[in-house]
Amino acid sequence: MSDAATAKVFVITGPSGVGKGTLIKRLLERVPGLALSVSATTRAPREGEQDGRDYHFLTEEQFQRRRDAGDFLEFASYSGNHYGTLNSELDRCLEQGRSVVLEIEVQGAQQVRAARPDSVQIFIAPPDGSVLRERLRGRGTDSAEAIDKRLETAEIELASRGDFDHLVVNDDLDAAAAELESIVRTAIGLDP
Ligand code: 5GP
Repeated sequence: MSDAATAKVFVITGPSGVGKGTLIKRLLERVPGLALSVSATTRAPREGEQDGRDYHFLTEEQFQRRRDAGDFLEFASYSGNHYGTLNSELDRCLEQGRSVVLEIEVQGAQQVRAARPDSVQIFIAPPDGSVLRERLRGRGTDSAEAIDKRLETAEIELASRGDFDHLVVNDDLDAAAAELESIVRTAIGLDP
């Protein structure tokens, strides 16, 4: 377990369809005391998503108001929607002495790197590009057009992987989960 002095911020980034969600779910199951920051977004909820659990779903006006009020640690546009990490989410976890995981895209990761140079930045990469298209299709949550847009963004995101402290290639899910767990445990001083 971490305390307020050692609680860390982990930024986990990677293109849409790379399996970040699954890897982070496993990470939270395996490392005690880690918390997941719930982002704000203007995107419409997908089937099964709950407000306050998966995202804080905001209207465009609400998002802009909170942005103007300086409520965001970082924010970015992605595939036509806004996403952002609320300072209050981070503070809530860190004040409890819990390390916190941000699952965000690359522009947000850059902003967190600037604001919190002590954050641990991890990029999850696919073994090759075709895997992303298959996964996004298989997920069945996005239209063909939305998938094409996400794949275009993925190209740009992959180009920035060198800016990250750690690169985890999600070829084999178990191996990638173990690698991610080991990075996080080492950073917070738990036995790997
Ligand atoms: P999705 O619409 O698939 O839930 O998320 C789209 C992208 O937005 C993903 O790459 C996800 O990591 C990113 N994202 C989610 N929340 C945030 C956030 O708070 N800030 C930023 N910058 N990106 C986010």
